[in-house]
Amino acid sequence: MSSASSALSQYTLSQPTLDFLARSHGHFIGGKWLHGNAGGVIDIHDPATGLKIAHCAAGGAAEIDAAVKAARAALEGPWSKFTAAQRSAVLWKISDLVLANFQQLCELEILDNGLPTPLAQYVCGMVVPEFFRYYAGWPTKIEGATIPAAPQGKLPGEAISFTLREPIGVVGAITPWNSPLPMVMLKIAPALATGCTLVLKPAELTPLTAMRLAEICQEAGVPDGVINIVNGHGETAGAALAAHPGVDKIAFTGSTEVGRLIVKAAAGNLKKVTLELGGKSPVVVFPDADLAQVIPGAARACFFLQGQNCMAGTRLFVHDKVHDQVVEGIAAVARAMKMGPGLDPSSEFGPLISVQQRDRVAGFVEAGRKEGAEVVCGGHSPSRPGYFFEPTVLAHTTNDMTPVKNEIFGPVLCVQRFGDGDLDAVARAANSTIYGLSGSVWTRDLGVAMQMVRKIDSGQVSVNMHAAIDPAMPFGGNKQSGWGREFGKEGLEPYLKTKGVSMTW
Ligand code: NAP
Ligand code: MG
Repeated sequence: MSSASSALSQYTLSQPTLDFLARSHGHFIGGKWLHGNAGGVIDIHDPATGLKIAHCAAGGAAEIDAAVKAARAALEGPWSKFTAAQRSAVLWKISDLVLANFQQLCELEILDNGLPTPLAQYVCGMVVPEFFRYYAGWPTKIEGATIPAAPQGKLPGEAISFTLREPIGVVGAITPWNSPLPMVMLKIAPALATGCTLVLKPAELTPLTAMRLAEICQEAGVPDGVINIVNGHGETAGAALAAHPGVDKIAFTGSTEVGRLIVKAAAGNLKKVTLELGGKSPVVVFPDADLAQVIPGAARACFFLQGQNCMAGTRLFVHDKVHDQVVEGIAAVARAMKMGPGLDPSSEFGPLISVQQRDRVAGFVEAGRKEGAEVVCGGHSPSRPGYFFEPTVLAHTTNDMTPVKNEIFGPVLCVQRFGDGDLDAVARAANSTIYGLSGSVWTRDLGVAMQMVRKIDSGQVSVNMHAAIDPAMPFGGNKQSGWGREFGKEGLEPYLKTKGVSMTW
């Protein structure tokens, strides 16, 4: 038995999953699997055990170049002949095929990323198919406008002016590991809806479902070369994609730090850039809020995906009157969460992605402890295989503490309190971060809610819920959380360009 198959023997996996894992993975370029490994080989680990389960070739600049050429050829060739209605049909078919491959996609996503089974089922059975269906509705509704212009003094009836919306071209997409399949979906669906082609570099830690989705797209009728996947390291394959002169736009999701590198790399040919970056989102609880909603809601806001979630509500601001009750309630939820491998259906809380990530999280908790925070619950890595870290609540934190200032990207909630006073002071505290991605306000007073919605400087604010995501709702970051929006109609805009046309006769 190979080391990878013995690493899998503890699970009951479907045959399609076992077959997929056993393959020698490379890059999907021009509709074919190629195996260039200029960047070596990437071992893929199960974060619940730390054991190797598969491997794939790591490409470099040569594979990126081949993929960009394939994407350009498809853009100018077969894909340009598709009608809007045909692109719609393909997107709808992808949704059907995602559902047809539900079990395999769930298993691969869990093995790659570690998320609990119910969440994987929600992602593969609801989030991803719904998203493709939502974008399947758009191709036939992308319209320009007629403009009442008078070019060169032409009178009405002597000229006509209008706009054409055209695909921006070849898109380079780079995605993170924290929610692998949805991150890839967020790039592929709008690219297909607008008629773009795409070269995607998935996170090296979680490439499995990206590769499988590329095959599903091919099966759904997406012509070869429209979607290309190059596996590899960020510093080589990712950097080559961001700098490539044949790429018209970069759609990046990842850290703010790497986002800055993307902007610099894109400057060579001034390619368009959208960035979905980090967050440190506030959860603000007023004393009149329904605590039966607040306690599970705030726990979920922070501990969802083990806190490896850009929208995570990691800074909790609670009014003095309910502070102790809310903190104790969240700590009780955290202590009761059943930790375990995602493939164990009873697990509620999975592992972190890697040993580095686990140690980084532990370092932030330790820094908080030294700076005077009280560890109300968690704070440790349990002695078991895999990269687990307990859901942790830090009370009595202040804005200058290390775990409050930094995006931890792990299950660590930092609590601050506030008293009676003006809403501006609460909002100032909530906004005192370089990030502005998500946030939530918990109150039954609609006036307070609406004022706080306006005062919080984030791309998304939810009331009496956190991180309310829907395919139709624009999502993205203010401040250093990003440039542009994904989801909804706005999510199409970065994939389109506008041509102004004036005509006389
Ligand atoms: P990351 O380190 O920035 O990596 C993201 C992607 O960029 C990976 O594919 C990575 O490759 C690649 N990369 C790294 N260096 C690069 C370079 N110099 N040039 C081009 N590409 C490069 O982020 P991560 O640790 O994977 O993910 C966590 C971060 O993503 C968090 O900050 C989180 O908030 C953010 N995020 C944001 C959103 C959002 O919607 N706003 C959603 C999810 C996650 P490797 O795989 O080789 O490292
Ligand atoms: Mg890396």
